[in-house]
Amino acid sequence: MVVPWSLPLASPTPRVDLAIVGAGVSGCALAASLRQRGWRGSIDLLEIGRGPGGRAATRYSRQDDDLRINHGAPLFNIRAQTPPALVQALEQRGAIRPFSGSIQSLDAQRSLGPAIADGFSDGSLWQGEGGMDRLCAGLLDLASEQGGALNRRFGTLVRHLQPERSQAGVTWTLQDASGTAVAEARWLVLSGTLLAHPRGQQVFGWTQIPLEHAAQQLADPQLSAAQAQLASIDALASCNLLATLPQDSARAWLALPWDLLQCTPSAQERWGLRRIGVQALANGRCVVVAESSPAFAAAHLDVYGSRSSAAQVLGAKPEPAAEAQVLDALSEALIDLTGLPLTGAQTQLMRWGAAFPTPPGLDPSHRLCPVSAIGFCGDNLAGDGFGRIEGALSSAEALAEVLVARL
Ligand SMILES: Cc1cc2nc3c(=O)[nH]c(=O)nc-3n(C[C@H](O)[C@H](O)[C@H](O)COP(=O)(O)OP(=O)(O)OC[C@H]3O[C@@H](n4cnc5c(N)ncnc54)[C@H](O)[C@@H]3O)c2cc1C
Repeated sequence: MVVPWSLPLASPTPRVDLAIVGAGVSGCALAASLRQRGWRGSIDLLEIGRGPGGRAATRYSRQDDDLRINHGAPLFNIRAQTPPALVQALEQRGAIRPFSGSIQSLDAQRSLGPAIADGFSDGSLWQGEGGMDRLCAGLLDLASEQGGALNRRFGTLVRHLQPERSQAGVTWTLQDASGTAVAEARWLVLSGTLLAHPRGQQVFGWTQIPLEHAAQQLADPQLSAAQAQLASIDALASCNLLATLPQDSARAWLALPWDLLQCTPSAQERWGLRRIGVQALANGRCVVVAESSPAFAAAHLDVYGSRSSAAQVLGAKPEPAAEAQVLDALSEALIDLTGLPLTGAQTQLMRWGAAFPTPPGLDPSHRLCPVSAIGFCGDNLAGDGFGRIEGALSSAEALAEVLVARL
């Protein structure tokens, strides 16, 4: 029988058996997979964003009830012969379904062709039922319905990691930007690279890399090696134009022969766009999401969308004038490429600073550092699913398998 960690009653900070930083696909999948394996200890799931999803989130609007925009991944593909077990569980509960849209490609001469191998469109294709955020919501439902405490702590930035080693093992205290403890845990899992990467110093002016600092305190060679590998992962950025179109202008976009258009390398060079998606909304409206090429995003790295977590939570200053220029450039490229107007569109910028990690990623032999009571999951683990939702799911399942015996 699993005995939950016993806690002093007067503890000022919630203490849990496991803290998971990040409620993207991998963090949510880890919670679900641990529960599926019968583990019922207490979990804190801490997430900067207002809800689950991470790079597979859906954006909503307080002013517009019908608006929903898949502003990160619009679908996912499973290439492994044996898919992650969670895929079947999610399909059975109606959280995901086979992707039903049409994918085509476009070259620099505006010739349409069949889908090209861009890594995201081979294998079996899936989408969230009603929105990509159903994927993470479904994973959290799967985790919750099995029992055991699962505290979802949205809007919570974990900024500092304080490990303390005692005879009983390591205790992790997680602190926010003001240094206030937000959780204490017997085990810690990081599902993103932010706390392990120099990006925090370069972009947000942090004075140290939180995981590097913790690894130095713990003097655990395996953890130091894992942190160094995570710190060396580069990522390509993506600037996404989100254009919400009224019924009149939406008609032409909804009549296009594709739902997702991949730009060939020559088209990316010409228009600075990598992929374009049309998402239908209620009442005949639609959203067009134009994902920039990596080169375009790299040239505009310092421009944040005012609704990005970089701007909202991490203190990066939005610059409306620069943002408007990027939006104009993306809109012009989109109009020129498709020949369709964006009349009456409401446009927003979604800028992903680290959209697509570049290989090799974290060696899976470091996914668990037992001496330091810490583990890692996410699409940043080396392997076939690297940089994709499949990798986020399979890395969580692989971690759950080795972690469950230790918890
Ligand atoms: C524009 C775009 C298009 C994409 N298209 C596809 C596609 O077509 N197919 C596909 O398979 N994949 C696609 N991807 C990639 C896919 O979205 C990712 O592989 C997957 O979502 C990664 O999940 P994850 O859990 O590993 O990481 P993330 O989704 O990044 O989750 C990590 C979470 O941790 C949170 N977090 C990080 N640090 C902290 C902290 N210190 N405190 C609190 N919270 C923290 C973050 O806010 C985030 O929610 C796309 C990505 C982007 C950006």
